Amino acid sequence: MRNAKEQALQNVEHVAEGVAAETLPEGKLFEIAQSIGDKRLEELNVADTTCGYCAVGCRFDLYSDGEEVLAARPTAEEDAPVNGISTCVKGKFGYDFVNSDDRLTTPLVRDENGEFRTASWAEALDRVAEGLGAIKDDHGGEALSVIASSKATNEENYLMGKFARQVLGTNSVDNCNRLCHSSTVAGLAQTYGYGAASISTEDLELADCILLTGSNTTEAHPVLATRIKQNVRDGANLLVFDPREIQIAEYATQYSRVQPGYDAVWINGITRYIIDNDLYDESFVAERTSGFEELAESLQEFTPERVEEVTGVPHEEIVSAAETIADADRCVFGWTLGLTEHSHGTENVLAMANLAAVTGNLGKPGAGVSPFRGQNNVQGGGGDMGPLPDNFPGYQDIADDEVRAKFEDAWDCEISPDYGHYTTQMFLAADRGDLRGMYIIGENSALSEPGVNHAEEVLEELEFLVVQDLFLTETAQYADVVLPACSFVEKRGTFTNTDRTVQMVKQVMEPKGDSRPDWEILQDLATRMGREWDYDSTAEIMEEVNSLTPLYGGVTHERVDSEGGLQWPCWDEDHPGTERLYEEEFNTDDGLAHLQGVGFSEPAETPDDEYPFTLTTGRVLYQYHTGTMTHREEGIMQYTPSDFVEINPRTAAEYGIETGDMVRVESRRGSVTVPAQVTDRVGPESVFAPIHFAESAINRLTDEEHLDPQAATPEFKVSAVRIAPADVDPGTPAGDTGTSTGDD
Ligand code: SF4
Repeated sequence: MRNAKEQALQNVEHVAEGVAAETLPEGKLFEIAQSIGDKRLEELNVADTTCGYCAVGCRFDLYSDGEEVLAARPTAEEDAPVNGISTCVKGKFGYDFVNSDDRLTTPLVRDENGEFRTASWAEALDRVAEGLGAIKDDHGGEALSVIASSKATNEENYLMGKFARQVLGTNSVDNCNRLCHSSTVAGLAQTYGYGAASISTEDLELADCILLTGSNTTEAHPVLATRIKQNVRDGANLLVFDPREIQIAEYATQYSRVQPGYDAVWINGITRYIIDNDLYDESFVAERTSGFEELAESLQEFTPERVEEVTGVPHEEIVSAAETIADADRCVFGWTLGLTEHSHGTENVLAMANLAAVTGNLGKPGAGVSPFRGQNNVQGGGGDMGPLPDNFPGYQDIADDEVRAKFEDAWDCEISPDYGHYTTQMFLAADRGDLRGMYIIGENSALSEPGVNHAEEVLEELEFLVVQDLFLTETAQYADVVLPACSFVEKRGTFTNTDRTVQMVKQVMEPKGDSRPDWEILQDLATRMGREWDYDSTAEIMEEVNSLTPLYGGVTHERVDSEGGLQWPCWDEDHPGTERLYEEEFNTDDGLAHLQGVGFSEPAETPDDEYPFTLTTGRVLYQYHTGTMTHREEGIMQYTPSDFVEINPRTAAEYGIETGDMVRVESRRGSVTVPAQVTDRVGPESVFAPIHFAESAINRLTDEEHLDPQAATPEFKVSAVRIAPADVDPGTPAGDTGTSTGDD
């Protein structure tokens, strides 16, 4: 079999022979030819659009012959502010899912035997209106919930929030941000005013120091990693604090392995050292912050001895990191879910926000905080557009009478001032019988929720479940009605990326089969349930967003398209957008950053004799979340065809485990069996597993009950587990693997 390079070179020859190859920019021929073979470029549809995988927000031209996506070609540097001419393997090659035979092309309803059968849109939507309507009539709208989709466009997510509140009468509407960065939003909003990145992506290249924690950047945000690596190559310092010695650590000036679950402790240790040694930015603290004295006092409990003992980070490493940050003129603090997916994730973020503020690293080029968001549109669709139980679009509090009156007036409905259930709480509420029906859009909760054994029971027991998705996912298999949605290449709208840039998403193919854009489905359903929605386009929906959402006041489709993207806040049509937050003042009542100390806290579950290891979970480069898209990519599947568990060589030797052996991993909530990868990437006290496959469903091991008290984020990053070769009882102590050792 020819390898990929040989295949690509062959395709290049095809293109060079017959196609308008001379029109292709130098260096791009290889990539495009690899995908389009000998088809003539001018016969193809092309759309300049935004990637539908992760929130880096890469832009490129997508080519289609109307049947399938044939190629993604990075656009000119000036048209792609985030990625220039780079993309990662998913953005470049990950499109087989669009035309997969597994796509849902017609609605499905349950027949009298409980089996799915195909149905017309009219029948399916009637069934949904009837099912949700009956629960609303009998138990009130609060008995219903909506899980919105961070893969869908801003405009569609705006409608999902409106549908929940106006049509169903519930504030229980939320999305996957609850499982990842909602603790970031809570922590940053309390300190600075906005729960978002303060920087632009280019600041990663302007910084002279970058602190990364809980971020497997090269695998989860590859294009951001490239920009960081370029900056390090040019002389910037990179500090990586992480339980795993991930690939980006190879580029680091300093890598420190931390014990999972104690991030606020080592961050506080650094901040204490900086303050105690007068290394902080005195004028910034005096002029732009409040609460400094109280913060300094609260940090005294984080003595060098205690920090080292609890986190495993030697004091010298705390000192060197503190001095590097303090010496830097411009430092960026970047993180992902290793910092946030904890039962005290908000405290971790507050600690990081304190550190950035006392060192004066906010509101100037090359300095600031950057939570790297995950799903392509979790910043916009999952947050800004307000499919949230406590906020309307633009983070406007539903408990605020004036704000609520504005939306009640615009949407012609009454809205309760009481917050609804967060996603994680919805599953606990349904267990109690407080929730009876769910409408889940583009979210695979049966794999992504913590403690999926529990989630499966809840989905099974719901009185009515409607799922809207591209595929018959593990979640959709529990549904009463399944509605076929279409992907981002089959519709038009906007996504907002991790640095608050709103960018166009453009259609390059007709929807497959009878699948439809989410906004059209919602519109038909709302109309069936008594509300006359009459949008002609997503541009028209965005106009409604503009009128109700000050942050997006000037973000029209026309401007986003012609200006190549707009960063919020963008208050009106004359406002240029905001490259960097907090240049003049913070978005708080007094314009100051509100420092607040966080005390010592532990993970909800710590290792013990019975479950002696800490499991952390995460992602790999070649897969994406629960795999609904990437599992349909033959080429991508060759690289990571299953989940696995990383085990330190010392631990593996104790248990007689080698790479490739099947290993049972067990927590108090469940058990999974996966192949081992023996590697010193993890320490001897920890194991790591990715979360991408239903066959292993790693979230059977995680904990659905212990949530962050402020943000309701689950503790995906710390679960106490035990391990054993698959044919041995996991309760068997290490060294007694059940085989004869010769000592018998
Ligand atoms: Fe798409 Fe993210 Fe890869 Fe860019 S880095 S191509 S946005 S998946």
